[in-house]
Amino acid sequence: MANDDFSGASLPTPGADASKRRVTYFYEPTIGDYYYGQGHPMKPHRIRMAHNLIVHYNLHRKMEIICPFPAGPTDIGKFHSPDYVDFLASVTPESLHDHGHARHLKRFNVGEDCPVFDGMFSFCQASAGGSIGAAVKLNLQDADIAINWAGGLHHAKKSEASGFCYVNDIVLGILELLKRHRRVLYIDIDIHHGDGVEEAFYTTDRVMTVSFHKFGDFFPGTGHIKDVGHGQGKNYALNVPLNDGIDDVSFRDLFRPVIRKVMEAYQPEAVVLQCGADSLAGDRLGCFNLSVKGHADCLRFLRSFNVPLMVLGGGGYTMRNVARCWCYETAVAVGVEPDNKLPFNEYFEYFGPDYTLHVRPTPVENHNSPADLEKIRNLLLEQISRLTHTPSVQFQTAPPVTRVPEQPEQRMDIRPKPRIWTGEDCESDAEA
Ligand SMILES: [Zn+2]
Repeated sequence: MANDDFSGASLPTPGADASKRRVTYFYEPTIGDYYYGQGHPMKPHRIRMAHNLIVHYNLHRKMEIICPFPAGPTDIGKFHSPDYVDFLASVTPESLHDHGHARHLKRFNVGEDCPVFDGMFSFCQASAGGSIGAAVKLNLQDADIAINWAGGLHHAKKSEASGFCYVNDIVLGILELLKRHRRVLYIDIDIHHGDGVEEAFYTTDRVMTVSFHKFGDFFPGTGHIKDVGHGQGKNYALNVPLNDGIDDVSFRDLFRPVIRKVMEAYQPEAVVLQCGADSLAGDRLGCFNLSVKGHADCLRFLRSFNVPLMVLGGGGYTMRNVARCWCYETAVAVGVEPDNKLPFNEYFEYFGPDYTLHVRPTPVENHNSPADLEKIRNLLLEQISRLTHTPSVQFQTAPPVTRVPEQPEQRMDIRPKPRIWTGEDCESDAEA
C-alpha cells in the first residue's frame, strides 16, 4: 500500500503475525440508536460506524459475531450498590424530577456529564453484557481474543456515574474472569485515567491495573505516578502520567518496555485492554497525537504474548476516527492488514476528503520531553521490580469478593465533581 506511508507520527506496518487467534466479537445491533442528548460528545453511533467498516472490510468473516445477552440488575449488582442499580433501572427522562428520583440525582452524579436519556439502562445492559459475555467466552477457552467496542466505560464507580459512564462493564468483566484466572492484568490507553477500575481493585493483587493518561488539570484528576495501590494491592496499580501531544514513537517507547516487564513479573492469566480512542490525534476532548497505527500498536504488542485477551472500547469523540481506529484494531486482532482505501459504506461521507482508513497526522508539539519520559519509564520499571511474587488463589474457595474502599457519603455532596466535558456543543462531527 503506497498511500499509507504517511510521514510523521505513523509507525511502519510490521509483518503479519503468522499465528491465528480465535476472535469473538460482541455487537448489539441497536447500540448506535442510543443518544445521550443534543450536543453531548458521547455518541454510541460511533460503535455502529466502526461495525459498518468492519463488515465492509469483511472482517466479520474472520471472527465469531455474538449479540450480547443484556446484563441484568443482579449481574450489574456484582459491583454496583443495590440502590444505585435500582435507580439506573427505574429512572427515565420523564420521571427524572419526581421526588423519588430527584433526590438521588446529585448523590449518584447523574445530570450534566451523565444525563438520563431514553434507554439509558438498556444501553448499560448491552455494554456490560458484552464485557461479561467476553469474559465467559475467555473463561471457557472458546476464544483467544474477545472484543466489545460498546464496553470500556472505565469511570463508573460503585455508587456513582462519572465521565459519561454509568455501569463499569470492565470491573464486571474482570470479576467474571477472576472466576477462572488467578491474575488479571488491566491496561488502559484512553486519554483519561482509568479511575473506576483502579479504585475497584486498588487493594488486591489479583488484578493489576496500568493506566496511561494525560495528567495535570485534566479529568478525572487522579492517576498520579505515586498512586501504586494499597495493602495487598500495593505496587499492583501503575500510573503513567503524560502531557499533551504525545506521539506514536514516544508512546510505544514507554508502553512496550513497561508492559513487557509487567507481563514477565506479574504473569497474568488474562489481559483486558481498554482502547479508549480519545488518545488519538484530533480528538474533540483529547490532546494526544497518536495515529491509528500508534494506538493499535498496543493491541498488536499484547496479542503477541498469546494470553487470553479482552479488548474494549472507551472514550473517543471524533467519531470518524473512532470508527477508523476500532475497525483497524479489529483487523489487528484477526491478523489482517486492511487496505488504506475505505470500502464504500453507509457512512462514507464522514470519511472525506481522503476516504482512507489512516489519516495524515497534523504537526502538534510533543510536550513530553525525552528526559521526562525516561524518568517516568525508570520509575515504573523500578516499581514493577518490587513485585516479589505472583499471587495465587485456590479455586475451590468461594467466589472472590471485591473490596472497594468505602467513601463517606456526606463528603460526596461537598466535593465538587470534576467535569469531563465543558458543555460546549458537540453536535456535528464534520468540523472537529
Ligand atoms: Zn476518555
